[in-house]
Amino acid sequence: MNRPYNFSAGPAAIPAEVLEQAAAEMLDWHGSGMGVMEMSHRGKEFISIYEQAEADLRELLAVPANFKILFMQGGGLAENAIVPLNLSRAATVDFVVTGGWSQKSQKEALKYASESRIAASGHESGFTTLPAPSTWQLSKGASYVHLCSNETIHGVEFHELPDLQSLGSDAPLVIDFSSHVASRGVDWSRVGVAFGGAQKNLGPAGLTLVVVREDLLGHALPICPSAFDYKIVAENQSMYNTPPTWGIYMAGLTFQWLKRQREGGLTGIAAIEQRNIAKAELLYNAIDNSQFYVNKVAVNCRSRMNIPFFLRDESRNEAFLTGARERGLLQLKGHKSVGGMRASLYNAMPLEGVQALVTYMREFEQKHA
Ligand code: PMP
Repeated sequence: MNRPYNFSAGPAAIPAEVLEQAAAEMLDWHGSGMGVMEMSHRGKEFISIYEQAEADLRELLAVPANFKILFMQGGGLAENAIVPLNLSRAATVDFVVTGGWSQKSQKEALKYASESRIAASGHESGFTTLPAPSTWQLSKGASYVHLCSNETIHGVEFHELPDLQSLGSDAPLVIDFSSHVASRGVDWSRVGVAFGGAQKNLGPAGLTLVVVREDLLGHALPICPSAFDYKIVAENQSMYNTPPTWGIYMAGLTFQWLKRQREGGLTGIAAIEQRNIAKAELLYNAIDNSQFYVNKVAVNCRSRMNIPFFLRDESRNEAFLTGARERGLLQLKGHKSVGGMRASLYNAMPLEGVQALVTYMREFEQKHA
């Protein structure tokens, strides 16, 4: 089946192979007589789905043994509260604000921490640059330092995570990796907690992935809801309350799809990362080599996943989007807070989709320049 190319920022395209497998197993999972949505989360069928998904993710992202993998609910925005509820000790927390999502996180933490500081901000550049780590004003004794490692709206990405110790901070680093999780490797030696909603690179909305270092468990504030206390969730294998079973199953199929990926002698995440680099380069080159389109993000921190771009003549926006839809290039409209266009090139977007977009952009330019 020839599906259109879907550039949505999330919920986003899911690999066709994953959707086909889910469809085939919808009414009867592996001869159990039940669909996955109908199973008890404590039955042997679902436990096997859960254990496989966890093991596959651990292998794919090389998550060290001293980190727990938690499958939670509430999305990235709930984690903006759940993280300070678990880690803030009601003290100071430091934020590196690099776009809309870290801005939201910083504001939410004000409710739980005694101080939610902005240690650095890309605000002055309109969030088109990342403040250099050497300029961050980290506080002594902060409970944690938060950053969003890929800003979905502004299109800036940390291509290297900071080494906080070398910056004079002993605090654990918390990263919101919602919109580039599983698109590249993670340097776990620099991370205390990583969280992300599933609806971009891992499957459908409703599942939140949290990867937390063991020594950070057991520090929740007394007001932290039990179902959101990382220690309780970890002790109960993410089944303190009913987990998002369908989301875990779909993420598990996606992990298996990821493990099957091959590119230039590489497999798994390394393979998908190579492909993601090639896809992003293709689109950025097309934008940069044109007088018609523009991307304002500094070259060293451009996101591979979310590429906002503008038509220099914005009066042509609607015509551009209509033409794109007619070609089967869907959901290219930019986020309402920045306008213009945005192409999200998550793992499920094949290179051919980006080629089709670039071809359409050239033709539109030739017609209207
Ligand atoms: N963080 C980032 C980086 C995001 O892209 C999003 C959603 N687009 C969120 C947080 C919020 O996630 P949710 O809507 O799942 O709460």
